[in-house]
Amino acid sequence: MLTTVITNARCFRGASETQSAGWEDNTYLVFSDGWITDRGTGTPPETIHAQRHIDAQGAWLLPGLANTHTHSGMTLFRGKAEALPLNRWLTQRIFPWEAQLKEDDIYWASLAAIGEMLRHGVTAFADMYFFEEAVARGVLQSGIRALLSRGVTNGPEQARALGESEALLQLAQEDQSGHLYAAVGPHAPYTVDDTLMAQLLDLAERYDVPVHIHLQETYDEVTASLKAFGERPTERLRRLGMFEHRVLAAHCVWLDDKDLQTLAHPNVTVAHNPTSNLKLGSGIAPTHAMRSTGVSLSVGTDGPASNNRLDVWSEIRLAGLLEKGSSGMAEVGEASFWISAATQTAYHALFGMKHRLEVGDPADCFLFDPMCWESLPLPGSLDALLHTFPSEHVSDVFVAGEQVVQNGVVQSLDMEKIRAEVNQRAKRFG
Ligand SMILES: [Zn+2]
Repeated sequence: MLTTVITNARCFRGASETQSAGWEDNTYLVFSDGWITDRGTGTPPETIHAQRHIDAQGAWLLPGLANTHTHSGMTLFRGKAEALPLNRWLTQRIFPWEAQLKEDDIYWASLAAIGEMLRHGVTAFADMYFFEEAVARGVLQSGIRALLSRGVTNGPEQARALGESEALLQLAQEDQSGHLYAAVGPHAPYTVDDTLMAQLLDLAERYDVPVHIHLQETYDEVTASLKAFGERPTERLRRLGMFEHRVLAAHCVWLDDKDLQTLAHPNVTVAHNPTSNLKLGSGIAPTHAMRSTGVSLSVGTDGPASNNRLDVWSEIRLAGLLEKGSSGMAEVGEASFWISAATQTAYHALFGMKHRLEVGDPADCFLFDPMCWESLPLPGSLDALLHTFPSEHVSDVFVAGEQVVQNGVVQSLDMEKIRAEVNQRAKRFG
């Protein structure tokens, strides 16, 4: 078993009951067999025999980021459906293109997405799409972690989608790698009727997995639900018993006070997607009100067709800026909160794991290169780091102790091969 020690790092310190997240200088971190086995300051004890020693030279060391809402298969559509609102974006572009996708398209698209995420310090993601077995192959090949869900809607495909959902749950249940997890994926309240929703919740119950769903992304979704069901989507999901399960609720842009109270539930984590919400003209999610009400928050990019990047670090920065700007308070939107949201909160929601770079936590982490122009002088706080460093300066990334990015180069994937496949396949769209 390979033991790694990273020394001389400016290391993230996770939030606790009494303290918000912070950092420690001159930290060493030891990991072995995928898990953190020691952490301290100064020189590591001589009893530690590491096969790999990395001198961080004072660089920032952070827990790996989690992208809690994306559709990695949509990489083939990146940049091909611009300047459209959600409804037209879906019906005029995305749905007709999706009808042409084959399993191999999803495989290559997801490899491109995973390569991009790893490169930017993302060590885990929650995906919702179809042909998720192909995404699972990409996950195992690349060494990232993932919570995969087969998106399900009413329609002629629904029986097949239900069957594929269960097959995916079985695949994850049998996985021995520790990298593959699965969830149930009702696409959204407006595409799934009560009967199908009950079938999906039954699956979640039987396999004891989370539910991943889009929720109250647009104003129109809320008004349409009031018209069709006489209740808001969140109220309808509550009535259907959804919040008795662990739920990953993506977007949540249009929330009233009652929605906020309902979503402030220990089983619920919101995936906040600030860029996608802005780009599709959906709105600005009330994250400050969510925080005040006790709603648990994580961060997602949404798919590459509506962002267009899978860069969680820049989403965190935007989330913080939007919280400051929309509340009129410069002191909120703190980096300590949003980095914790994208690490600790997200890993708990996706995998039930702690993720603070402490002993017993997964060895999923990344280093920022200290030798860049923005590091003059080296950022002295999490806020300074977030607002100064772009994620292009991520230098080294580890997932389950394996080094998947070295000096900014993804080690586990063949970028040239993926580039050729993705460029060729993307020619069919747009
Ligand atoms: Zn989405």
